[in-house]
Amino acid sequence: MNVADSELVAGLLERSGYQRTHELCDAQVILLNTCAIREKAEETVHNRLDRLAALKAGNPSILIGVLGCMAKNLADSLLESKPYVDLILGPDSYRRLPEVLQHRQTDPSTYVDTRLSRWEVYDQLLPYRQSGVNAWISIMRGCDKFCTFCVVPFTRGRERSRSIESIIAEAEDAARQGFREITLLGQNVNSYHNGDTRFPDLLQAVAAVPGIRRIRYTSPHPSDVNDHLLEVMASHDNICKSIHLPLQAGADRILKRMHRDYTQADYCALVDRIRAAMPECTLSTDLIVGFPAETEPEFQATLEVVERVGFDTAFTFKYSTRPGTKAAEYTDQVAEAVKQERLERLIQLQKRITLERNRTHVGSVAEVLVEKESKKSTAQWAGRTDGNHWVVFDKQNVHIGDFVAVRIDSTHGIALQGHIATSEEAYHALA
Ligand code: SF4
Repeated sequence: MNVADSELVAGLLERSGYQRTHELCDAQVILLNTCAIREKAEETVHNRLDRLAALKAGNPSILIGVLGCMAKNLADSLLESKPYVDLILGPDSYRRLPEVLQHRQTDPSTYVDTRLSRWEVYDQLLPYRQSGVNAWISIMRGCDKFCTFCVVPFTRGRERSRSIESIIAEAEDAARQGFREITLLGQNVNSYHNGDTRFPDLLQAVAAVPGIRRIRYTSPHPSDVNDHLLEVMASHDNICKSIHLPLQAGADRILKRMHRDYTQADYCALVDRIRAAMPECTLSTDLIVGFPAETEPEFQATLEVVERVGFDTAFTFKYSTRPGTKAAEYTDQVAEAVKQERLERLIQLQKRITLERNRTHVGSVAEVLVEKESKKSTAQWAGRTDGNHWVVFDKQNVHIGDFVAVRIDSTHGIALQGHIATSEEAYHALA
């Protein structure tokens, strides 16, 4: 979401006559687009701002801005602790950026605008996308779910969705620019609704855009996954069979305290429906351990669901208190050492499951979209399968953006290793 927002801001500034620099020391304006979802993300921004202070001391004409959720959430403390910051703009104030930068040339006081909007969806503002294979398209903003651990409804405001026409126009533009894959984005992407258009209708319309070979979406809420969505996914080859389905916790009491409006049984029944509609569909999830008052048996319930579902991957977190949320008021916080120990057990379990699931792909041939150079070797590419598995293989004569058939030879950790399939291997895989 932040990458998409940064592209939006870059597009806005480019149309106002600004140019990107590749070196920090060449920049006249430096904007940090921030995240407030966890304490760690905030610490990163504070450290980065401290480093920028030295740059600004050497060149006071540089303008430094803080954008996004942290700007909304921590404007007062930023004003106090980082007086060298020139502007603080929340996630709904980006349209004003060119005007604010202009204004700041003559007015030295810090400019702050963190008002949230009930309507801002940045329709008609095409983002500045660097070339690549995946185009992020933000389709809705904000969230009305108010999970008790989450700061998003306070930093990003209430749910609102873009018009289907503007989303399709952006998808067509991305296809014209050569993007092969689109990822539809939203805090709660499948609660998208605009007039009578619901998320499955939108997904179907995006799937019909010529030139788009793969469509993904993130992050959905389990309660907003319905049979219509599964039907649309199952009936379109260019919609990836991969769902990120945040579980958060396995025990009903904790789910209720989190204000997640499903039970363990609801979630497991949904997984069964997904697998009945699309047996090949991969599943990933988000999990929080050590939510206030979580007991050992309740943590065990999380492990049991993880084991039962067999997620392909999971993003696992220790509960981190977010000031202003309901859960921050709970007095029965879990000790840090207990959270850490639970996290380690959960990671070990998920590692084993990921390895087991990845091993089922060894020997198969997968269609891989080449995305980037492998981090480990300049002689290898890394790309993803339809099911969102990363595959690493020798480059040979293929390029970023190509779709190639790769035979999976082995797996270590979360990635698969393979080689470009010979025509015979590809033939046998398809036969
Ligand atoms: S649905 Fe997601 S974004 Fe919305 S409050 Fe819950 S965790 Fe936060």
